[in-house]
Amino acid sequence: MKKGRLFVVSGPSGTGKGTIISRVMERLENVSLSISATTRAPRAGDVDGVDYYFLTEEEFIKRADEGRFLEHACVHGYYYGTPLDPVTETVESGRDMILEIDVQGAMKVKEKYNEGVYIFILPPSMKVLRERLTGRGTDAPDVIERRMNNALGEIAYIDRYDYGVVNDDLDSAAEQVLDIIKAEHCRVLDGEADKIISEYGEEN
Ligand code: ADP
Ligand code: 5GP
Repeated sequence: MKKGRLFVVSGPSGTGKGTIISRVMERLENVSLSISATTRAPRAGDVDGVDYYFLTEEEFIKRADEGRFLEHACVHGYYYGTPLDPVTETVESGRDMILEIDVQGAMKVKEKYNEGVYIFILPPSMKVLRERLTGRGTDAPDVIERRMNNALGEIAYIDRYDYGVVNDDLDSAAEQVLDIIKAEHCRVLDGEADKIISEYGEEN
């Protein structure tokens, strides 16, 4: 059976990653979204086990030491990590998996998993990014400042990504991510050519 593909989505906080991913998930059947673990406090409306697994720092470190994360990183002052088993199980079962993680985490996944597809979501401008962070109404002013200060450092990683999508108009940005996913399903992966050729040969 063909394995699922791993799509890693990064971009500054407030750029619209979560919003785009929800749109994309509505349109695709064979894809799951990885639920990360974090030590940050739940925001209003965040549900444990749905949006994140909210862990104490002690529990997070224990799981990290036990090797239960595919990657983990400290982002904006808190730990975030991708639970390993769901990623392995999903991809092995033939479903795609989307990871919405920061640039440090994405680079760690890239070292381990070279067949991942790396998509960076850019804001139309820094001004709009600030407006979105403020407009979301979920973060205190000092948190917004910290996220704005980190944004340029994250954008500096753009050249390590396969694709850059500017989230200006939401419909177009979601459509572009869907197009990327569709195109990647037609990619001839390393080692696949021999299998394809022999399958056609056997039939002939
Ligand atoms: P992220 O997941 O990257 O932190 P969100 O998906 O939470 O960002 O989006 C941040 C805010 O910007 C939300 O209030 C969301 O509704 C809004 N938003 C997202 N995309 C757009 C867009 N294309 N145009 C206008 N507002 C947007
Ligand atoms: P937020 O607190 O706004 O939900 O997320 C803050 C940042 O943490 C975002 O850039 C998001 O992509 C990143 N993030 C969320 N989950 C993970 C994860 O599992 N690993 C890493 N490395 N970053 C994550």
